[in-house]
Amino acid sequence: MTPMKWFYGFLKKYRKLMISGLFLTTIIAALSIVNPYISGIMVDDVIVAGNYDLLPKLIGCLVAITLVTCVLRFLYLLMFETASQGVLYDMRSTVYRKLLEEDLNFYNKKRTGDLMSRQTGDMDAIRHFVAGIIYSVYQNVLLFAFALVMIFTVSPKLALCMLVVLPFTAISTFMQSKEVKPAFQRNRDCFSSLNAFVQENISGNRVVKAFAKEEYEKGKFQVENDRFRDAQIKGSRVWMKYVPIFEILAYALTVVLMLYGGYMVIQGEVTLGDLVKVNGYLWMLNSPLRMAGWWVNDIQNFVTSVEKIYATYSEEPKVRTPRFAPTQKPEAEFDYSHEKIRGEVEFRDVSYSADDEDIVKDISFKVEAGQTVGIIGSTGSGKSTLMNLLCRFYDATTGQVLVNGTDVRDMDLYNLRDNIGMAMQDVFLFSDTVEGNIAYGRPDCSFDQVKKAAIMADANHFIKSMPDGYDTIVGERGMGLSGGQKQRISLARALLKDPSILILDDTTSAVDMETESYIQKQLKSIKEGCTVFIIAYRISSIKDADLILVMDEGRIIERGTHSELLAMDGYYAKAFHNQYGEIPEELLQKKSIA
Ligand code: ATP
Ligand code: MG
Repeated sequence: MTPMKWFYGFLKKYRKLMISGLFLTTIIAALSIVNPYISGIMVDDVIVAGNYDLLPKLIGCLVAITLVTCVLRFLYLLMFETASQGVLYDMRSTVYRKLLEEDLNFYNKKRTGDLMSRQTGDMDAIRHFVAGIIYSVYQNVLLFAFALVMIFTVSPKLALCMLVVLPFTAISTFMQSKEVKPAFQRNRDCFSSLNAFVQENISGNRVVKAFAKEEYEKGKFQVENDRFRDAQIKGSRVWMKYVPIFEILAYALTVVLMLYGGYMVIQGEVTLGDLVKVNGYLWMLNSPLRMAGWWVNDIQNFVTSVEKIYATYSEEPKVRTPRFAPTQKPEAEFDYSHEKIRGEVEFRDVSYSADDEDIVKDISFKVEAGQTVGIIGSTGSGKSTLMNLLCRFYDATTGQVLVNGTDVRDMDLYNLRDNIGMAMQDVFLFSDTVEGNIAYGRPDCSFDQVKKAAIMADANHFIKSMPDGYDTIVGERGMGLSGGQKQRISLARALLKDPSILILDDTTSAVDMETESYIQKQLKSIKEGCTVFIIAYRISSIKDADLILVMDEGRIIERGTHSELLAMDGYYAKAFHNQYGEIPEELLQKKSIA
């Protein structure tokens, strides 16, 4: 599908409204030819021939036409505005829905600011085209054609003379159109880039402040700002040089009329009234010529925006539900029913590589439903990646990840993730109340359930001490929370889902030991059959797990229970001694070499 076909799909729904608008536009264009016609009659029949009785009728006619035109203009503007808002509404929703479906690789590659520009600036260029350009081009082309026909009825020779300018206009329009397109593409790229820069700086404002890099960021902003301004000026220069050409062509018509028309009056080929009539049609010929340059800009801007939005839209997520998987996605927006799956997990020779680099290699392990798995290992060893593969944020390059004996790639994505509760390493809270954040995965649950989850995550007492308790707004625009508090809200959010698989990625790293041991006790009380993955650096967080996996450079280097691993006297045992006693010299040396 081409970007334009895709766009037409949105326009189609408002076809009737648009056609009605164009019909009214046609009537207005037709009425426009009456005024100059009446002016001609006034000169020939009223002023020259002295038929003064005609005057009130002609004036009445002019007033009536003006009134009808005003009403029709209001109506068609309303129609085009409604259609444009409708197209925009549908397009925004469609693009946003697609954005939500995109996989993590898509978001890893894209800048938030760029995606925001697609949904704002580019969408607005489309709205402007639908609301203002379509009817304007149509109306002016009609006016031009009608005027030409009317002049033809007065004098075919005069009409043909005036047509001389048309080829020049066509050539200029074509040349401008070719030249402005790359300029507009550059403009939009610079706009996106500026947006992305500002967005990143606002989000990362704390880092900028902490490193006192305000001046440095101001300088970088200056560069982006300059680039955008220069691109705008350069783009403007491209189309500005065509403005005089279109103006000259428009005035050329007046010159042709005055010279040749005047000559024809002198020769008696046409009357003075005819000349006045044709002069009245002149603006109808001039207007499209004057506006052609602007239209070219707006149309190219529109085309660039549609192409950019479509390029983002048409990126298909690699991770998606296979067609043959039973779809569990609730049809109704507020249907929160979910089908439980057994939390048995198996990794079979799983490897995952990104950009030709192995991230995890030859991972094999099996966990029965209800067991607890501890994962420990150096930073960047691939622990979170394992969990990302389990949730199908990415698909394994080779091997299989199985949940309840089924390859996750053959499962319904919604159903799989609905059964997984994940407290991620980088906690994200929405601008919502504490209750809203905790109940994010189960918005239909009761307040008591929210409170129970908060108690299990040891979050209840600090939430209660907040100004509005569970109704306190947190997240981007909300109250500041400590790292440990955020972790506990995120843990409560994962627990409330009542998942079959619970993933706690570094979830208790920012809480004190006492709180951690309380949370661990609570975790033991969660429903039977829930498989728990705990990723941690602290031995205390994982030592009671049924299976502990030790990872290094993307591989499982040791596995077993706490006592088995201690007996191995390998990485785990060293980490244990490191945390509970002296740091072995060997480990220190390894770190300093690395
Ligand atoms: P930490 O303990 O610091 O959280 P980790 O063991 O969870 O580390 P991962 O987040 O799994 O480590 O990352 C493992 C490696 O893979 C890192 O070197 C990281 O840079 C790389 N990596 C992770 N995701 C991607 C990706 N989508 N594309 C490219 N590289 C990635
Ligand atoms: Mg991690």
